[in-house]
Amino acid sequence: MTLPEPTRSLSDAEFAFRRGSLLTVLGAVLVVSLITLSVQAHWNFSLSDQLLLLLLAAKNAALFTWLWRVPQAFRLVGLIELTVQVATVLLRLYVVLHSAPGFHGLGGYAVWMIFPYIVAFIVLPAHPATLVSGSMFAGLLGMIGLYALDPATDPALRTGLSNPLLQTILMHATFIALLGWQQHLHGQFVRALFSARREATLAQLDDLTGLPNRRQLGRWLSGALDEPGDLSVILLDLDHFKRVNDTFGHEAGDEVLRQVAGVLRRSVRRGDHVGRWGGEEFLMLVRGDVEDAQAVTQRLRAQLEAAPAKQSGRVKVSCGVAQARPGETPHELLRRADEALYAAKRAGRDTVAFAA
Ligand code: GH3
Ligand code: MG
Ligand code: MG
Repeated sequence: MTLPEPTRSLSDAEFAFRRGSLLTVLGAVLVVSLITLSVQAHWNFSLSDQLLLLLLAAKNAALFTWLWRVPQAFRLVGLIELTVQVATVLLRLYVVLHSAPGFHGLGGYAVWMIFPYIVAFIVLPAHPATLVSGSMFAGLLGMIGLYALDPATDPALRTGLSNPLLQTILMHATFIALLGWQQHLHGQFVRALFSARREATLAQLDDLTGLPNRRQLGRWLSGALDEPGDLSVILLDLDHFKRVNDTFGHEAGDEVLRQVAGVLRRSVRRGDHVGRWGGEEFLMLVRGDVEDAQAVTQRLRAQLEAAPAKQSGRVKVSCGVAQARPGETPHELLRRADEALYAAKRAGRDTVAFAA
């Protein structure tokens, strides 16, 4: 029963997505490395592997906590993670290619080598991400090329590694292309989602005042009548508003409406609702009985009195208050509030009247 939070800017939505993605990646790798550490005894990990895993877990825990607590650190955390990832892959490949014969190749690590590309496309916009990924890929190619051409390379090892290395190259190229395409689609998706949400929010708001409009108030009212507990409505109408327009012009009239809307918006309590019912009429839904609603009108009228309009001076209002009866429809309740409002007008305006 609340309006969507105020529409955030497109870059905010994009930022939230990227930060969430990086947190997911950091958190997932942290969990995976902790699990691996806890079961590594069965796999005979070397001491250096255990140490590296421990370092990886510590790094991810630190970066995750940092990004979680300081969202603005996203770019910095991302660049650190990206640098570590790219450096690790290149270093690891170098070690594999230059280790003594009999070394078992990339082994299980091969699948993790595409990870820096994922991080690059999370942390950076499409073009820089492609550039970084392309550079890392070029580094891999260079290293593999030098290895293949180096006469000192052990022929048996070269033959053994040639197929996995070729697969690695093809896999990486495919992956970079795929991530680039995915980034493109993702951009379109975020923009479409953002504008759909903004349209949906705007459709519930009044253009002039930014308050919820009649349609939204109607929805809230129907919902509120279905809920248990007392509900009262206050129909509020500006007194002699036509005179403001006639004397000071339509623009000044609009300004008064915006100002009244501001007072109403600031004074609405949690669980209550207010909106522009139409023209110079506003509707407030108050969780409570007639006395609660009366207290609200007193507070409102005092606040309006304390905030006179620049040109036309004090804003006077008449209010009609009605408390919902069991089983009453929105239409019936509003009709009684409207009758009370007319009674307030007949009683000389600048007052509050209560429905029978
Ligand atoms: P009463 O005390 O009986 O309510 O008198 P009133 O002049 O406020 O009421 P009336 O219904 O005669 O006139 C309402 C005026 O509100 C007429 C209309 O031009 C003005 N109005 C309605 N919507 C807007 C708006 O969006 N902007 C401006 N500037 N005026 C508006
Ligand atoms: Mg009116
Ligand atoms: Mg009026």
